[in-house]
Amino acid sequence: NAGANVKVVVRVRAFLPREIQRNASCLVLEEKSFTFDRSYWSHSPSSPHYASQSHVYDTLGEEFLDHNFEGYHTCIFAYGQTGSGKSYTMMGTPTQPGLIPRTCEDLFERIHEAQSEMPNISYKVKVSYFEVYNEHVRDLLVAPPTNPTAAGPYYLKIRESPTEGPYVKDLTEVPVGSLDEILRLMRTGDGNRTVASTKMNDTSSRSHAVFTIMLKQIYHDFETDQTTERSSRIRLVDLAGSERAKSTEATGVRLREGSNINKSLTTLGRVIAALADPKKNNRGGTSVVPYRDSILTWLLKDSLGGNSKTAMIACVSPSDYEETLSTLRYADQAKRIRTQAVVNQDSMS
Ligand code: ADP
Ligand code: MG
Repeated sequence: NAGANVKVVVRVRAFLPREIQRNASCLVLEEKSFTFDRSYWSHSPSSPHYASQSHVYDTLGEEFLDHNFEGYHTCIFAYGQTGSGKSYTMMGTPTQPGLIPRTCEDLFERIHEAQSEMPNISYKVKVSYFEVYNEHVRDLLVAPPTNPTAAGPYYLKIRESPTEGPYVKDLTEVPVGSLDEILRLMRTGDGNRTVASTKMNDTSSRSHAVFTIMLKQIYHDFETDQTTERSSRIRLVDLAGSERAKSTEATGVRLREGSNINKSLTTLGRVIAALADPKKNNRGGTSVVPYRDSILTWLLKDSLGGNSKTAMIACVSPSDYEETLSTLRYADQAKRIRTQAVVNQDSMS
């Protein structure tokens, strides 16, 4: 298995009203050139090339869900500065749903269709939703405590299992049987997500949010009396803003959060760099990828460099040169990473 490269796409969002007000100009048409698997021009809806939410799903989300039904783990993560369209791409709005709700909808459509045609196949779907905030893991399917100093199950610990890799201990995993159920959980979790305002974007989130769908397909062959199970995991990640804390003029607590959030993001950068260009250490072996240096990279270990088909959506704002260039460089490096996805299948007689 030679593995496959991480798929990297870029999405340019539209101007916001405040950018139109200050007569911002669109800097994306620059002379620097990068090559990506695909680029989505979502800058102006009147453009003939405008990439709508459904277009992004049809050209990326759907392919990844195909992989899940084949038995592969997948991960799609959105990277970019605050305000560049990560949450819009992943979650979307009530009228313009993003990749997460569209994946859920397509998932249950496929399940219902298969079940109406094949009596010997059944499905189990479970969902979890957590955020990494300030180097802590919080379960988004559990309501936040009214007393913020309360300990208990709110901050979760990470464990590593020899077979499953790193996982969040005691994370809520809810079995779901319908689209309505999963969308309700998605909204609950989204409401519990930490949202703190910064100078750059009032509704920006300073946390990394990881929405996971676990799909189990159980197929029974009546002739051989054999049961085959395929298990796959769909990970959809909305990263915190990639900008440096100083550019938001954050102070005090916000700055400390910023530096810790940057710990996960800077480690992600180092992990991507190490995976993109594996270096030899002085003993002749390949140097260790620093997954365990941050909570986020530890948890995403498999998705970044292991058993997963992975895509990165680099979101860019149309009027911020420095951040756009830094995001494109980051994305350019991610393209060189190869993961080793395998079909996760077990047969029992
Ligand atoms: P981020 O999560 O990266 O901080 P958001 O997804 O919240 O950014 O996007 C910032 C603002 O831009 C939001 O008001 C969002 O609705 C809008 N926006 C983002 N992407 C698009 C797009 N492709 N088309 C139209 N509006 C967008
Ligand atoms: Mg966001």
